[in-house]
Amino acid sequence: KTFEELNLHPDLQKGIYGVGFKKPSKIQERALPLLLNNPPRNLIGQSQSGTGKTAAFALNMLSRISQDIQTPQAICLAPSRELARQIQKVVDDLCKFTDAKTFLAVPRSWRRGHAITAQILIGTPGSILDMLSRGVEIFDPEMIRMLVLDEADEMIAMQGLGDQTTRIKRFLPPGTQNVLFSATFTDEVREFAQEFAPEANQIFL
Ligand code: AMP
Repeated sequence: KTFEELNLHPDLQKGIYGVGFKKPSKIQERALPLLLNNPPRNLIGQSQSGTGKTAAFALNMLSRISQDIQTPQAICLAPSRELARQIQKVVDDLCKFTDAKTFLAVPRSWRRGHAITAQILIGTPGSILDMLSRGVEIFDPEMIRMLVLDEADEMIAMQGLGDQTTRIKRFLPPGTQNVLFSATFTDEVREFAQEFAPEANQIFL
């Protein structure tokens, strides 16, 4: 398969070639058609770092947001600020030829009374939960259509992050597309994943 065959927007294809990707990695080739299909369905994917999973869920978020609506429509949760930063870098590179904007949600990154205008929020669960607890002053959770959870096994291993993720989900509309990636699937991760992304398409590499 080629990126052309995945029917991505030409501006996103420019971004892809801009970062030097020639053809989709295995996870991208399998996940993107499932992620992009309509109506949107949840996805649970097994994938290690280095397989290209970040670009897979980034391209889905970038394909589904409306650039002309200046409010968050996708949230990506990561277990650490460092990983959130790395994800933001990948999304920013891929959307360089579009009008999409990202916002890194880490402690003290936002201010009371200042609405966020980026379409994609990337951050740790604590910061996102903090914003959500302010009500629609920072962003309107009803406008969120995608929730991505990266490195779910790491997330669950860290005290409280799994619970915070569950609490975030409760703020979001029922039709939200939930996407979860994890390197490992212990019973605990499997159980969490089923709850987080019910009736999901599943990819185990
Ligand atoms: P990951 O941490 O799984 O997102 O893997 C990311 C690494 O794989 C980064 O170094 C990317 O630049 C690289 N990568 C992702 N997709 C592709 C692709 N289609 N072709 C070549 N390299 C890629």
